[in-house]
Amino acid sequence: MKIDLTPVLNGEVKELPFTFTENVPAEVAEIRFKGLDMTVGGKLTVNGKVRDISGYFELDVAASLPCVTHCARCGRQMSVSCGCDLHLIASKDAEHSEDEGYIVYSDRQIDIDGPVYEELSISFPSKPLCREDCRGLCPVCGADLNEGGCEHIKNEEKDTL
Ligand SMILES: [Zn+2]
Ligand SMILES: [Zn+2]
Repeated sequence: MKIDLTPVLNGEVKELPFTFTENVPAEVAEIRFKGLDMTVGGKLTVNGKVRDISGYFELDVAASLPCVTHCARCGRQMSVSCGCDLHLIASKDAEHSEDEGYIVYSDRQIDIDGPVYEELSISFPSKPLCREDCRGLCPVCGADLNEGGCEHIKNEEKDTL
């Protein structure tokens, strides 16, 4: 995702909105998401604005990505919507390039792939649940207690729906 700064650098606008809708590259999904039990379930959507603050740029970015993971209690496959907001400073000056939220740009373009994927991966829910009251599995036999009881767990709480 590269933001073309030309209209801002030419002085045509002070603030530039941007939108990207794209597929997450396979290698990014492998490196960033797989170890966290997240599979990409759709396209990444990124919206934001870049502002010219004479000498550097300020960016507000919102990213969202549908994912597929497993319930932390019962292990059932489930869909989750992952998202994050970022505030970034972009400059040509590499001096602070290690600072958090600071990115160095060149060639009139700001590439936000790195910060967006990093922030997304740390924003993933750590214990996703298929539903708030998921009953999980029987610790003895592993039966899915959402499906009903087993000989170890009394069935009195079974859904009455
Ligand atoms: Zn569950
Ligand atoms: Zn059991």
